[in-house]
Amino acid sequence: MSVRDLEVPVLIVGGGGCGLSSSIFLSNFGVQHLLIERHAGTSILPKAHYLNQRTMEIYRQHGIAEAIYEVGAPIERMGQIRWMTSLGGDGPLDRREIHRMDAFGGYSLRDRYEADSPVRATNYPQLRLEPLLRREAERRAPGAIRYHHELLDWEQTASGIVATVQNCDTDETYTVRARYLIAADGGKTISPRLGVEMVGPRQMVDMVSTHFTADLSEYWDDNTLITWFLNPEGESSWGAGAMVQMGPTWGRHSEEWVVHFAFRPDDPERFNEDAIVPRLRELLRLPDLNLEVHKVSHWILDRIVADKWRIGDVFLAGDAAHRQPPTTGLGLNTGIQDAHNLTWKLAHVLSGSATDALLDSYESERKPVSTDGADWALMAFGNHTVIDAGIGLAPGAPLEANIAAFHALFSEGQLGCALRARAKETIGTQRAEFQAHDVELGFCYRRGALIDDGSAAPTRSDSGTIYTPTSHPGRRLPHAWLERDAVRLSTHDVVDGEGAFALITGSDGGAWVSAAQAASEKLGVAINVAQIGAEYHDAEQTWTRVSEIESHGAILVRPDNQVAWRSRTGVDNATDTLTNALATILGRS
Ligand SMILES: Cc1cc2nc3c(=O)[nH]c(=O)nc-3n(C[C@H](O)[C@H](O)[C@H](O)COP(=O)(O)OP(=O)(O)OC[C@H]3O[C@@H](n4cnc5c(N)ncnc54)[C@H](O)[C@@H]3O)c2cc1C
Repeated sequence: MSVRDLEVPVLIVGGGGCGLSSSIFLSNFGVQHLLIERHAGTSILPKAHYLNQRTMEIYRQHGIAEAIYEVGAPIERMGQIRWMTSLGGDGPLDRREIHRMDAFGGYSLRDRYEADSPVRATNYPQLRLEPLLRREAERRAPGAIRYHHELLDWEQTASGIVATVQNCDTDETYTVRARYLIAADGGKTISPRLGVEMVGPRQMVDMVSTHFTADLSEYWDDNTLITWFLNPEGESSWGAGAMVQMGPTWGRHSEEWVVHFAFRPDDPERFNEDAIVPRLRELLRLPDLNLEVHKVSHWILDRIVADKWRIGDVFLAGDAAHRQPPTTGLGLNTGIQDAHNLTWKLAHVLSGSATDALLDSYESERKPVSTDGADWALMAFGNHTVIDAGIGLAPGAPLEANIAAFHALFSEGQLGCALRARAKETIGTQRAEFQAHDVELGFCYRRGALIDDGSAAPTRSDSGTIYTPTSHPGRRLPHAWLERDAVRLSTHDVVDGEGAFALITGSDGGAWVSAAQAASEKLGVAINVAQIGAEYHDAEQTWTRVSEIESHGAILVRPDNQVAWRSRTGVDNATDTLTNALATILGRS
């Protein structure tokens, strides 16, 4: 063994959003690990930007939400989406707003989103988020985050992983022995060699993203995050272009922007970078716009999910396990949530409080949720063609016909009113993308580290927009503000970010409080207890409304704030009942 060789419980391959989040969570759980990333620095591509409420809850639990809020977009600077013909120009069809929609918990959605979570969503492009996550990861695990180190090869042995890693600065190689490997490598290296099949349609579209700096303060408004351009010349809304504010200042004074154009993968024009700047100026109807292009990047759209997420001691996470269209913003968010699901399980298995069986629940929980998310993203992607049809754009129609359709849309009189009403209703169906509150919070683990109580869970909303809080096992713990010692805290705060379980009971749940202590001692697992009506107060009566348990019932919550088990009423032998439930969840029964 060379002096450079290492032995760590967990090796993370990939320093993108999923790998860095895994490192932060593992550090908070006290699990030693090594992260290697083959690039010398974090990504220079803008990529994903929307961080949904669930992701921000996770980042709050792990102590990094505040750092992101300090620099991310405030909700009033990102809470609307617009559909416009252009930003500039003075023709009859220029600068026309076709529709405006509240989005991501902003404006009219604010009360509803705020009632359901202790946090709000934000917007912070990946090329700025990754450096922030890297700093947080390095602070928690000094020396364990190695950029410009590449996984060259590895094998699985009876006792884990033996990996060959190259230090790309010196070209030296060294060996890393790890009990477990998190493949957060975007699917570039590990899964292809393991024979994992990525199932689903591929190569649907080449998304060409242009990241540039320009002063658009005269043409943008302060509340819009994304503007979709629809014009008679565009084949479709994706072909015409979608433009996103990238900060670092938020609102009309944003310095940076990204425009996405969709190309067919067989269209040779997609690589014609010289045509990009003229095309952008034409799209915006700003022929003299002064702009500096930073990067033109290509992103092939697939909707694929790995057939296996656990292969021995290797766990696929993030883009390595699923890749989908950007609509609904579930790509990076799902990857961060994979990391959250996996890391507490690794921590418990490594500490000996759970058996290896707990790790099987990673695939049985995350794969169905991520498959649903990928399908939802694809549906929302395709729905943009419904919008095109709704405003009268017909694919393949002559240019004059499409121009006539736009003139009719903006015309005076009954026909114009009817067409605008139709456009409003049709574009309204895109709530599935921009108001996907239930998709983001209401997801459900049906099989895994949980015990079903046989009751029916509330029906989920067809449009994906209305979230119904429930403490049904497999669901995310409902948020309610509580008070303890005159301090306001969320039910989510009962679960700390250090790997403890939580037991929440009511004013008559004294037997559960003693049971939690006994189960904790017997199984060697920390359980934080909140007795509501004793030291915790349901001052706003929200918990009483959403908890679905009686005052002598109890809910057992996992370290990732998912409900593991509940008893809606009291039982005769609370200690045995709770101990057995926790042992089952940890794979020990
Ligand atoms: C060009 C582009 C544009 C995108 N735009 C959007 C968007 O607008 N909206 C959206 O929602 N999503 C977008 N995405 C998707 C989103 O960025 C991904 O979902 C997200 O980056 C996934 O994070 P990850 O950490 O799982 O993987 P990645 O970000 O892909 O990170 C994987 C890392 O693993 C490293 N790696 C691979 N092999 C090795 C090895 N052998 N050794 C060491 N390191 C290795 C890679 O260098 C990489 O840094 C885009 C993706 C791309 C590529």
